[in-house]
Amino acid sequence: MFLAVHALIGAVAGNAVQSPTAAFSLGFISHFFTDMIPHGDEHMYEGYKSGNKVMRALVYVGMDAVMTVVLLLVVFLKQDFFSPLNVALGVIGGLLPDLMVGLFEILKPKRRTWFARKLSWFHGFHMWNHHLLIKHVGKERDLPFRYGLAMQGVVLTLLVKLIM
Ligand SMILES: [Zn+2]
Repeated sequence: MFLAVHALIGAVAGNAVQSPTAAFSLGFISHFFTDMIPHGDEHMYEGYKSGNKVMRALVYVGMDAVMTVVLLLVVFLKQDFFSPLNVALGVIGGLLPDLMVGLFEILKPKRRTWFARKLSWFHGFHMWNHHLLIKHVGKERDLPFRYGLAMQGVVLTLLVKLIM
């Protein structure tokens, strides 16, 4: 799922609760439920892993990251949150799982240290969760990419409307 979607759902979650711990936890947990929904980026990730379409995946993630920063700037500048700290913690919680996956992809740990073992475990768990439902979606095992993009565009628009 777009980083931007995870960030804005984290913002909504952080805005809905009183405590910073709850804000962060809700944002973090929301990531896994959001990722479960088929969203069309499975082949993008496979292209990256196989080394065939690395550039395509990096451009996709780069554009997503820019969109995330812009949307967060707009949301934080335009909206007077009851607790900006909670909203920020919700956003961080929502993004953290994918940042950890990114860290795993960069470090490619060889399972020697405690940290490497935990990171590998987390990466496996994240992917298991990501595949939980899409493995049942037809023989392509995911939504078509363009449907995924359209669906996430609609969700992003609704989230921005919800927050602002
Ligand atoms: Zn994720």
